Amino acid sequence: EPILNIAHVKLSDLVGYETAKKKLVENTEAFVSGRKANNCLLYGDAGTGKSSSIKAIANEYYDRGLRIIEVYRHQFRDLNDVIAQIKNRNYKFIIYMDDLSFEEFEAFQPTRETYALFGYPLGHTMSPALHHALFAAASRDADYIAVTVPPELLADALALARQKLAGINLTIPHKKAVIPLLDAVDQSAADLSSVNTVAFRDGKAIGFNTDILGFAESLERDGVSLRGKKVLLLGYGGAAAVMGYHCLCEGAHLFITGRNPEKAQALCNHLTRVLPSAKCTVCTRRQIPKDTAVVLNATPLGMFPREDKTPLYFLPRKTVYVFDAIYNPPVTALMKLANPRRTKTRDGLFMLVMQDASAQTIWYNAQFSD
Ligand code: NAP
Repeated sequence: EPILNIAHVKLSDLVGYETAKKKLVENTEAFVSGRKANNCLLYGDAGTGKSSSIKAIANEYYDRGLRIIEVYRHQFRDLNDVIAQIKNRNYKFIIYMDDLSFEEFEAFQPTRETYALFGYPLGHTMSPALHHALFAAASRDADYIAVTVPPELLADALALARQKLAGINLTIPHKKAVIPLLDAVDQSAADLSSVNTVAFRDGKAIGFNTDILGFAESLERDGVSLRGKKVLLLGYGGAAAVMGYHCLCEGAHLFITGRNPEKAQALCNHLTRVLPSAKCTVCTRRQIPKDTAVVLNATPLGMFPREDKTPLYFLPRKTVYVFDAIYNPPVTALMKLANPRRTKTRDGLFMLVMQDASAQTIWYNAQFSD
């Protein structure tokens, strides 16, 4: 159904970001005149005029044949059909993709089983596309939406989710803040103070952390056993906490290193507080044990587009396994240090996919093989 009346926003109503507006107008002019134009990413906090700009563009260029089609991220899979339908029409079309705002989520009435990602801001998350691919693989008739939830509205969003949704994922900045709002939290998620998946069971909201499951599945797939092994962890941020926690649960001796020894010590202290019998040590580069068996990168060093960066210049001689949480590029500079005859390597893509697959297992007991 075409929408004929949209908010009467004009480009001249939008003030305060003239440079961005000028670029958008020049690009749209080029597009409607049949010249080369770019795809555009409008980013900024909620309420800074991104969708108003789109409405203003639609109003301004309507008479010159410009039409806007709004596609939510959960409608990704329909994109090819949409393009096929409009290809030979006599108009110029801009396809506009957006997340649901909190207000839209309040009004949202699911027509089938629906799951959601809550975050703020959401950036360009791959989760909706990945979850849809997983629903398709599991033959599940379900939807997945991305909702921008500002921190002060998290409690309201969770209350609405209990009524409307079958489960949710949480990303920055909600992973810790959601914990006091839940009825129960899985032990590892509680230990890490980080919940990224919520299941609704018998009216109760239960929190889990599937980052750990994604990492654990990667090691299992590669047949890596950690008990009694020395594991070097590069970095001490969010991914490092998850990876280090799993290694300690599996009985490894963990060595954490990074550019800020105090932050490395803080992670070590946290891990040994929640796992009192764990063996965890902070080390400098020079103190890296020569008999380290497993090396884990939990820093962004080596990530696209700065692929030449590496958190280490050589691997300890006895390294048998290198895991890099980075998933772009698929073979990082750190992984290239490995001697293929003795050292297995794995990038972070499988971990990423298995986090989402594990969420679906928690929600409705889906099982995924390769
Ligand atoms: P984070 O919480 O911001 O932690 C980043 C870590 O890297 C910190 O220890 C940070 O140390 C260190 N670091 C950052 N820039 C550095 C530099 N230039 N030199 C040395 N150390 C540096 O981020 P995160 O969420 O843990 O993510 C870390 C990496 O893991 C990213 O590449 C991310 O894409 C990847 N990741 C992958 C998955 C997956 O599923 N595969 C999941 C989560 C994250 P300082 O605090 O001193 O800066």
